[in-house]
Amino acid sequence: MEESGARRLEGAPIAAEIRTAVAEDVASFTAAHGRAPRLAVVIVGRDAPSTVYLEQILRGCAKVGIEASFVELEGEATEASVTSAIRALNADPGVDGVIVQMPLPPSIRLRSVIDAIDPAKDIDGIHPLNAGLLRLGYDGFLPATAHAAVEILRRSGVEIAGKDAVVIGRSAVVGMPAAFLLVTEDATVTVCHSRIRDLATHVAHADIVVVAAGRPGLITGAMLKPGAVVVDVGINVVEGRIVGDVEFESAARIASAITPVPGGVGPLTNALLLTHLIRAAERQNPTSRVGNTGVEAPAAVTAATTRGDR
Ligand code: NAP
Repeated sequence: MEESGARRLEGAPIAAEIRTAVAEDVASFTAAHGRAPRLAVVIVGRDAPSTVYLEQILRGCAKVGIEASFVELEGEATEASVTSAIRALNADPGVDGVIVQMPLPPSIRLRSVIDAIDPAKDIDGIHPLNAGLLRLGYDGFLPATAHAAVEILRRSGVEIAGKDAVVIGRSAVVGMPAAFLLVTEDATVTVCHSRIRDLATHVAHADIVVVAAGRPGLITGAMLKPGAVVVDVGINVVEGRIVGDVEFESAARIASAITPVPGGVGPLTNALLLTHLIRAAERQNPTSRVGNTGVEAPAAVTAATTRGDR
């Protein structure tokens, strides 16, 4: 196998740095308020992948001193019982952030659940208010995965401003928010989706390629512009192995930098979710001074807010 020339953009060291800063913020918050910040996770029925993900969340919170509690509803729970559980968490001043484990059972409408979450506690940025704030370039909660896809570029020193970026995927939780974030960082962005006529032509011109399609092997080295930076958000299980959407070996021979899967965007996603939680806690209980993480929002978003554009 030919040796790859690309720099591996690893998420774990950045995530560790972020967690250290979060732990300091958590300690300040706890000292000021006499309680640790608290995350509530709403779970409707359990399956194996969601159990693994929940264990990761629990471990991540415990490491930095955040309390996490689960509100578990039976797999047959009604939409009304799920939204009423969310509203109870909204009303609880001891709960700072709420996330709802996806996917939900098909009988429950996603939109009703999303609308039920208090935007101030919506630390994974799925409520329309937070999506709207992001769209307008204002400071709100970002979907953690999209945030991670761009934060890994920023923290790795990849220049974004002025670059041509292609985002593959247009979902509300990953592709579109990642595209908006890149525009906010002054990239010129093309969003690709399953109805695209010629994906290769778009990818061939991109300085930055963010892939969030859920299609293993969708992007190969032969498709890339030499020196491109590749962020692989995809998570797929192929023959029992976790792989991304990018054919890593061939892409790493052409790209200048690439995120591995696993180990790239994933670890950063979980760490960033913790920064969102501490920010939600601070905003709802504004007496303490926290703010070590340096990832409150991308620079341009923060600038728009501090300019008073809101
Ligand atoms: P999704 O809702 O299924 O969206 C996939 C997007 O990719 C859609 O917009 C779809 O287009 C587009 N697409 C599919 N096939 C394509 C093709 N052949 N060419 C171009 N575009 C194509 O998935 P998602 O929730 O956004 O997640 C995307 C990936 O990220 C998945 O692999 C998921 O597992 C992974 N993920 C990773 C993390 C993490 O922490 N790393 C977190 C969440 C999700 P249409 O809109 O036309 O259907």
